[in-house]
Amino acid sequence: MRTRFAPSPTGPLHLGHAFSALTVWDVAKKLGGTALLRIEDTDRARARPAFEQGIFNDLAWLGLQWPTPVRRQSDQIADYETALTTLATRGLLYPCSCSRREILDAGAIAGAEGLVYPGTCRHRTMADAQQGDALRLNLAACLAETGALRSFTELGRGQPVIHEISPDWLLGQLGDPVLKRKDSGDIAYHLACPYDDAHQEITHVVRGVDLWGLTPYQVLLQQLMGWNTPQYWHHELITDASGKRLAKIDKSKALSKYRAEGASPADIRAMIGLPISSC
Ligand code: GLU
Repeated sequence: MRTRFAPSPTGPLHLGHAFSALTVWDVAKKLGGTALLRIEDTDRARARPAFEQGIFNDLAWLGLQWPTPVRRQSDQIADYETALTTLATRGLLYPCSCSRREILDAGAIAGAEGLVYPGTCRHRTMADAQQGDALRLNLAACLAETGALRSFTELGRGQPVIHEISPDWLLGQLGDPVLKRKDSGDIAYHLACPYDDAHQEITHVVRGVDLWGLTPYQVLLQQLMGWNTPQYWHHELITDASGKRLAKIDKSKALSKYRAEGASPADIRAMIGLPISSC
């Protein structure tokens, strides 16, 4: 069993991250496995070395340990580009120059996870890709290639639940995802995350339920690329209505501030409602 905590070093860790990280390590302990730390720093404009160092400091202070070296996504760009080339060669990618404004003006509807791309650039081929274009995955072409879609197992609800992924949901509620971002050329989370989960041989993805709705993209890419599909454990967020006690804490306050004010790791666990016994 291998799981991972995969923060983006774009700001200080707060109590929500502490809840997620402690849950990852608790699940690893419960299932007799290993928890890895992965730095998801593909957003080059927002990622900072100081935030990365803060992640190491905060997690170590919480008493967590992880194998080294830590995988950093900015070190893997060539590999992600190779994966993009594979998808492009199979006719599954297209270049897109649309701005958010143009997407709205084209009548995009709000889907489950934001705007559903209306397909303005879908007719374009990689041969006419321009500098600065985004690259999008053509879901209809993917579905034609895959046939029946893989399902995934969700463990975060007490009993394992098998989730079938419906083509209608993908097309109608999510839409063609960006795998390489416009202008910056940054690799998108939708590609880097399942790539790394596969290459780090992650068996269990433990993360917040806010990412549940994007899991179908990741499972689709796993199917397309012949990668294993891990089991998923989406935990509740401490921002949920999970009790008055939790509602009273300042969720946006940096963990390091609580530390500076003299809080102990046990205090943090108590604040976010995690049992000490599972430390
Ligand atoms: N890097 C993502 C975040 O900080 C987490 C990705 C994941 O766990 O799949 O929200």
